[in-house]
Amino acid sequence: MGKMSDIIKVSKDLLKKYPLCDRCLGRFFGKLGYGWSNEERGRAIKRAILMDIHKRIRENDEHAIKELRGLIENIGPIGQDLYSLYFYDNPVFKKCAVCGGEIDGFIEGLSSQISSRLKELEINTFLIGARVDKKICMMEERIKSEFMIKYGESIKNEIKREIGKKVQSIGGFRVDFSMPDVVVEVSFPSREIRYQIRSMRIFGKYKKTRRGLSITKSGANIIEKLAKEFEADNIVLHTIKRDEKNVRAIGDGMLFIADIKGAKRRNIGKKLIRGNDTIIEIEKIEKKGPEEIREKPLTRLYRCFIFCENEISREAIEAVNALRNRAVEQYFNKKHRISIIKEIKCRRINGNIAECLVLIPEKLYVKELVSGTRTTPSISSMLENRCSCIEGDLLYLGG
Ligand SMILES: [Zn+2]
Repeated sequence: MGKMSDIIKVSKDLLKKYPLCDRCLGRFFGKLGYGWSNEERGRAIKRAILMDIHKRIRENDEHAIKELRGLIENIGPIGQDLYSLYFYDNPVFKKCAVCGGEIDGFIEGLSSQISSRLKELEINTFLIGARVDKKICMMEERIKSEFMIKYGESIKNEIKREIGKKVQSIGGFRVDFSMPDVVVEVSFPSREIRYQIRSMRIFGKYKKTRRGLSITKSGANIIEKLAKEFEADNIVLHTIKRDEKNVRAIGDGMLFIADIKGAKRRNIGKKLIRGNDTIIEIEKIEKKGPEEIREKPLTRLYRCFIFCENEISREAIEAVNALRNRAVEQYFNKKHRISIIKEIKCRRINGNIAECLVLIPEKLYVKELVSGTRTTPSISSMLENRCSCIEGDLLYLGG
């Protein structure tokens, strides 16, 4: 016996015992042939079985007519016309022993449901995952081992592949195995669908044109604006560098990194979100991978408006400007830090008012650099005066 007749013989034995829909029968031979659906495989096998029976009926093989009657309930509607040639009653088709007759409707229905949902979600790539009721998987395995089926595909695989193909063609979305925007998990036969939307990492800038906004308030403001923009359930703000309550962040603004979870709007590019006294600038959006946030040391440029207790002398201003490239020691939270002032340019405005532009490393506290609190040397010490930064502006923050 050649291979083809093996397939037909096994299939006929299968169908004598179990009612199987075209797709579930074809799936037992899913790894044979290429470029066909399991439905096509199942239909081809059933047709070959029916043609063989018909041939034998025409050759007056009396077993053949019995075989047709015995098989009709399990082989399904594809045998209806041939059956009607020889019998007057209407056969009652049994439900598929594996899928209960649900799989075709499941694939069709869920594919269109998922496609429309994905359109609302503004995603580009997806991946289908499937959960199949345990009893169904066990039934499938039982039949496979009972009939020693070697070239079968699993129902789980078929559901994933077929829904994936349909969603791709209906909605124009792309399957992505490594980093999909959304993983759609379908449950068979319950028709439950779960969407796990990949979070995105936003890199942006935050400008504050008014003093007095607390760090907490800045954070809440960014979260609120991003949640609205991305229609997202959950925003995790990782950092805002470097926010201080009484410092405006003009110029380039501060840097923030946030993760957006469950975004319903994703196709957002570079963008400015304006609020009262604040501007949020979205610079870059990345699909979130497993990697952690990498920190790089930053440099800050400040403008300080300085008020001193006593008159500021011209010579003292020169001494302050000589702090350029000097090391400054600060003690905070039991930590001792030495930082180099990269650039400093001060001028006396009048009497006891001065203005400084200072370019300093990220870790150096600027107000204390002015006042001298746990800081040596400081602007106060160089001026031999008690000074404080009464207004500060962050003009630049960068690498
Ligand atoms: Zn079935």
